[in-house]
Formats: sequence, C-alpha cells, structure tokens
Amino acid sequence: MSENCLFCKIAKGEIPSRKVYEDDDFLAFHDINPAAPVHLLLVPRKHIVSLEDVTAADAGWLGRMVSLVPRLASENGCSPGPEGGFRLVSNAGKDGGQEVAHLHFHILGGPRPWQARLATLAS
Ligand code: 5GP
Ligand code: ZN
Repeated sequence: MSENCLFCKIAKGEIPSRKVYEDDDFLAFHDINPAAPVHLLLVPRKHIVSLEDVTAADAGWLGRMVSLVPRLASENGCSPGPEGGFRLVSNAGKDGGQEVAHLHFHILGGPRPWQARLATLAS
C-alpha cells in the first residue's frame, strides 16, 4: 500500500468501485470514464508504479495478470473471435500518458466506434 494512491485505496475498499473481479493478488473494476463500451481496469493489489518497474522477478504474477485478461474481457461484454476481441493498454510514465501511478491494464472492447478520447489512451 502506498499512501494516497488511488488504486491502492480502491483495492482496499476505501474508495468505491464497480468491481467485476477480485482475488488475493488482483482486482478488476469499471473505468469511471469509459473510452469504449467495455472499459475495465485490472490492477495488482501490491503497489507497483508501472511496467517501467517490472523485472524478470515479476514474471510469475505478471503472467497470471495477463492470463486473466481474456476471461475478464469475455465475461464483461467483449465478443469472441475475429469479429470481436479486445484491446489491452498499459500506460507508463508521463510520455506514456499515465495519470494514475499504480500499474494497471486497460481492457477495452465492445462495438466500435469508440470515443475520441481513445486516441490519447490507446492509439
Ligand atoms: P491512465 O491514464 O493512468 O492510464 O488511466 C487511469 C484511468 O483511471 C483513466 O482511464 C481514468 O478514467 C480512471 N480513473 C481515474 N480515477 C478513477 C476512479 O476514481 N475510479 C475508477 N473506477 N477509475 C478511475
Ligand atoms: Zn498503489
């Protein structure tokens, strides 16, 4: 837990969120300002700032985090197959467009067109 970190507070339940998944290590919830019909945020409970801070030692939990993505996408409205699918985005640092300094994956999907905001998020 890092004090004053928004996603640490959401993970601890100190700030409400529309949760769709949680286990001992991860939490997924709806983005408060969705850029697509499906827009989830998947975060590790442990505080890590971004993918810039990841090393080979993180391969285990990071692999588990990635492996949750297709399940969360399909369970929350992303259609399967080549006519469906999803987009996975993780912004890192100022140049990466990161606003919340706690590692998170954006899982985006649903019928297009999506919002113009996505141009800054995931172009
Ligand atoms: P970033 O720009 O850091 O990659 O993305 C941060 C995301 O967090 C944004 O898409 C923003 O809408 C979302 N967000 C910011 N504050 C909150 C909040 O209090 N609750 C939820 N659910 N999402 C938030
Ligand atoms: Zn945090």
